Amino acid sequence: MSETIVSIRNVTKSFPGGVKAVDNVSFDIAQNEFFALLGPSGCGKTTLLRMISGLETPTAGQIVIGGEDMALTPPNKRPTNMVFQSYAVFPHMTVADNVAYGLKVTGVPRDETKRRVAEALEMVKLTALADRKPDQMSGGQRQRVALARALVKRPKVLLLDEPLSALDAKLRDEMRLELTRLQENVGITFIIVTHDQDEALSMASRIAVMDRGAVRQIATPSELYEHPSSRFVADFIGKVNLIEAQVISNTAGALVCEVKGLGRLELPTASPAAGTIAIAVRPEKLKIGTSEPLAANVIKTRGKVRDVAYYGDTSHVVVAVDNGPDLSVNVQNESRLGGAGVERGQEVWLHWSPNDTLVLTE
Ligand code: ATP
Repeated sequence: MSETIVSIRNVTKSFPGGVKAVDNVSFDIAQNEFFALLGPSGCGKTTLLRMISGLETPTAGQIVIGGEDMALTPPNKRPTNMVFQSYAVFPHMTVADNVAYGLKVTGVPRDETKRRVAEALEMVKLTALADRKPDQMSGGQRQRVALARALVKRPKVLLLDEPLSALDAKLRDEMRLELTRLQENVGITFIIVTHDQDEALSMASRIAVMDRGAVRQIATPSELYEHPSSRFVADFIGKVNLIEAQVISNTAGALVCEVKGLGRLELPTASPAAGTIAIAVRPEKLKIGTSEPLAANVIKTRGKVRDVAYYGDTSHVVVAVDNGPDLSVNVQNESRLGGAGVERGQEVWLHWSPNDTLVLTE
């Protein structure tokens, strides 16, 4: 991985009244990463972003950017720039003047300002709208103005606080692709705060999953999805069947556990799991059928269809296992009829591979 640009070292932020918004967090972000801080509301992600920008001061710990401790550096002297959720743009100024504003106030010469504004507008594909006013623009375009305003300052790190949350669903999808493309083209580090796992998974090169002030796991999107380190992460990233299990034995990488309704399962794992654990299996890894599966070395069980929800390309089927857990199954609807060919109340078989079963001890 390339050089570290942002280093968060044992950072804690307590607010008056005893709220520890961020609790002893440490990690590094490399140059050129598209890094996401992801977590449920109140987990501390915005506070962490604001400390990187200098808008909040850590109660303890250090924030180092580009090799320099930022403790005494005010926000406007940091090599960072923030794009706010509400895209703070001036409604009475043209797009070009909005973008130029930050350079004018810091005394950048006119010619250079003009050149840099043109460059920034080009980056966000707004050259043709340079003379418009923001109130004559769509939400997505206004957001690009806010991005251009931040990029024109040439920050080393661009901080984005829920940048897509004010957009409707279709525009949000488009902007996700645009932000990823933009980050690749401008080659600067992006740090984005979001509570939307799809957003983080689709855009970020790495994600820090936060929970109650702490970082629970930092990994690439696929690592987080395929190898979550805890129930919290497994549950927060994507959909998952979390099933309680009792470990019977765990030797030489083979774990035998007992699950209510499913009986004894043997799972390959390197985990030193013992006692009560959770096993997790993603809904798309489960196969559903009306007859007993013939495949060897699979985990299989019978149950009754409790619900079928049709989503066009997929259907989501919930199966109540006899004396056991409810299991969710995602089925690709390859025929026009969809619905997995099963109906509520029907007896079905489920099976999946032990290799697709995660063992979670935390
Ligand atoms: P959201 O997605 O809802 O913005 P978040 O994960 O970004 O949530 P933060 O805004 O960082 O969370 O807040 C973390 C915790 O710190 C919350 O419990 C919040 O109420 C508290 N908090 C944030 N700012 C302040 C403040 N200025 N004074 C007191 N408490 C605060």
